[in-house]
Amino acid sequence: MFIIMISPECAPVAKVGGLGDVIHGLSAQLALNGHNVELILPKYDCLRYDRIQGLKNVYQGLWVPYYNQSIHCDVFWGSVDGLSCFFIEPHSAQHFFDRRAIYGQNDDIERFAFFCRAALEFMLRTHKHPDIIHCHDWQTGLVPVLLFEMYSHLGMRHPRVCYTLHNLGHQGVTGEQVLREVGLHPPFFARPDRLQDNHNRSALNLMKGGIVFSNFVTTVSPRYAQEIMNSDLGMGLQPTLRAHNQKFGGVLNGLDYNVWNPESDPHIACRYTIGTLGDKSKNKTALRKRLWLREASKPLVAVVGRLDHQKGVELIAQSIPYCLEHGCQYVLLGSSPSPQITHRFELLKRLINDHPDCHLELGYDEELAHLIYAGADLMLVPSVYEPCGLTQMIAMRYGTVPVVRNTGGLADTVFDVDYATTPNENRNGYVFNDYNQAGLESALRRAIGLWFNYPDRFRELMANAMRCDYSWNQPAKHYSNIYQHIRA
Ligand code: ADP
Repeated sequence: MFIIMISPECAPVAKVGGLGDVIHGLSAQLALNGHNVELILPKYDCLRYDRIQGLKNVYQGLWVPYYNQSIHCDVFWGSVDGLSCFFIEPHSAQHFFDRRAIYGQNDDIERFAFFCRAALEFMLRTHKHPDIIHCHDWQTGLVPVLLFEMYSHLGMRHPRVCYTLHNLGHQGVTGEQVLREVGLHPPFFARPDRLQDNHNRSALNLMKGGIVFSNFVTTVSPRYAQEIMNSDLGMGLQPTLRAHNQKFGGVLNGLDYNVWNPESDPHIACRYTIGTLGDKSKNKTALRKRLWLREASKPLVAVVGRLDHQKGVELIAQSIPYCLEHGCQYVLLGSSPSPQITHRFELLKRLINDHPDCHLELGYDEELAHLIYAGADLMLVPSVYEPCGLTQMIAMRYGTVPVVRNTGGLADTVFDVDYATTPNENRNGYVFNDYNQAGLESALRRAIGLWFNYPDRFRELMANAMRCDYSWNQPAKHYSNIYQHIRA
């Protein structure tokens, strides 16, 4: 099949979080399985241009309607690890994608609404008729709306749309002007069964538009699919998802096993496999050296992730003194778009960074993340909610035992060593239920205790974690089936 991914992110050139990894990994696996896959992305000024091969301007006269004028765009093509990517560069007074950042601008809604229209206009002008358009999150929610209400009448009747919800915490709620921007007539869409927001009747919800107008909707784990249909985690979209449950399902994300592989990872100090698990400790030594931690017989607890309410910042902050008091070392790598959260962790860092067993690194550092996954013993993911979560899966790939909260994709991938109902050999970490300090400590206490008191059993747990298959193999097959289903 000919599949076009339309996305605001693709690792490693435009990555903020897991969405970037997913676009890269899923596209690569679909291509490997014989599909023809192309990607359309914004041409941000902050793309990692060093990771794009053969970038060239391939379409110069793309005029994209915007309100009652048109914006001139160039379209570039380049290869990202062998993936065929088109990058749209608008020459607008607003400099939509020249902001030195992917998100976090006051006009994000306008920027990505424009991107949706530009992507479709590019496909129309270049006569691309994919079998499947796969789009992602609120930023591309207008793609199916525009396709079925405008571009199908211009001749694009062939494509079917699969739409994936990566995080319902961001839905693109906005006013009617965004529809006028892209040439749609607001009264037709501002209805409860179309784009009207379920909370605020005078607002529109772009993610809801994506759900209503797509041929199939997925989210990134089976547990999260249930949670968002049946609990507050749907953040207002529960009735919409229930109304469309015939075309909705959860597909667990995979990991790109070429990027995340302790056997071949260029960013770690010593490569290892399940058979040479002893060599993992050389990465612990390298990590300690790099972050000025002392050499000692202590378990190393790590956190890698966005410092965001969703990720459980309260519990993360509480875990630091707990781990240090219980004989651990602690490493955190994280960044936050919120000035308050950044300030909080900067204060903590100032207080604690002279400690020989603790290092907080506030920022984004892809290479350091690899060394942390390889060097740590335990990876903490205490999320309030977690659509899928990649950090626990990456940790397991590196034999680092996850300690997670029982929610979303964390619940679908981590099986508690003491309490899970799965066979012993499938148990791969620690899980706690309640989002509070007692819950967190109940899991950390058991994990730290096993490391100190039963090192052989801890090693078995590491091996169990490494044996899990969280590659894109299975998920890509699920997506192929979904594509076949909506084509039929
Ligand atoms: P989310 O998409 O909600 O941010 P995921 O767990 O799905 O969370 O994916 C997070 C991805 O981003 C992982 O690949 C993780 O290693 C990476 N990551 C998050 N924060 C950082 C950081 N500060 N530095 C390097 N990599 C990071």
